[in-house]
Amino acid sequence: MKTSKALLVFALVLSIASFTAACSSSSQTAPGKEDDGLKIYTTLYPLYDFTQKIAGNLARVESLIPAGVDPHDFELSLQQTAKIYDADVFIYLGESMEPWAKKLADELENKGIVVIEAGRGLVENDDPHIWLDPILAEEMAERIYEGIVSVDKENEDTFKANLGELKERFDQLDKDFRSLAERAARKDIVVSHAFLGYVAERYGFNQIAITGLSPQDEPSPRKMAELIEFCRANDVRYIFAEQGEVLKLSNTLAEEAGTEILMIHPLGTLRQEEIEAGEDYFSIMRANLELLNTALAEE
Ligand SMILES: [Zn+2]
Repeated sequence: MKTSKALLVFALVLSIASFTAACSSSSQTAPGKEDDGLKIYTTLYPLYDFTQKIAGNLARVESLIPAGVDPHDFELSLQQTAKIYDADVFIYLGESMEPWAKKLADELENKGIVVIEAGRGLVENDDPHIWLDPILAEEMAERIYEGIVSVDKENEDTFKANLGELKERFDQLDKDFRSLAERAARKDIVVSHAFLGYVAERYGFNQIAITGLSPQDEPSPRKMAELIEFCRANDVRYIFAEQGEVLKLSNTLAEEAGTEILMIHPLGTLRQEEIEAGEDYFSIMRANLELLNTALAEE
């Protein structure tokens, strides 16, 4: 008696679940998922921020990389991997930044999850830092937009309007970088790790990095000696440093070469206190621009 009643309840639950699933096919909601709008997972901070700004309140966007964690040496936990299967959309940059995501992408797509590789075709020479170039960042935002629309056609107009606002802000940022480049008396940017390669290329600066493409690439003593020599020979007054282990190397270089330190933000991740203070991609890019102005404007 008890068993058959339990079975009946189970069957009822199952039929409700499949009914709900059938009614919500527009957002690719699989049976058993809650249907309260799109669920989107992202990796790096800029991907999270752009997605949030495009989707507005029509999606729940969650970053897989916790606040303050360097995306260069981030690995997804098993628990997090399981969580992504619950998503409608998964957004990452590309193999150069998240090799783990590249491996996961096919499997997610097989399960009907829309996967957006926002840096596809934009990344050159395995340098993932495309988000720091406003023009490439804008292209990433367009890809994110296309991916979101592909799962929620109904709200296309809203997403398009949000993307439009975002594009204006990227264009303004690009103008401000160009005006800095025109005014700049100096072209050398000495920076902790090589995250300004695309900015340097677009606006005509010269990037000299202490480590390599990742802050974890330790320079040899010979490389450090060359950097000190470069700073002295070129009368470099400021070097751009970032939070984390690599700050020690920046301090060493600054001491040896007699330069000042400016704390710049690579934007791969935001710390909790920055999130709470309401910082976003644009506020930090503006602050970075001010710092570059300080270092490069004067002869
Ligand atoms: Zn980086």
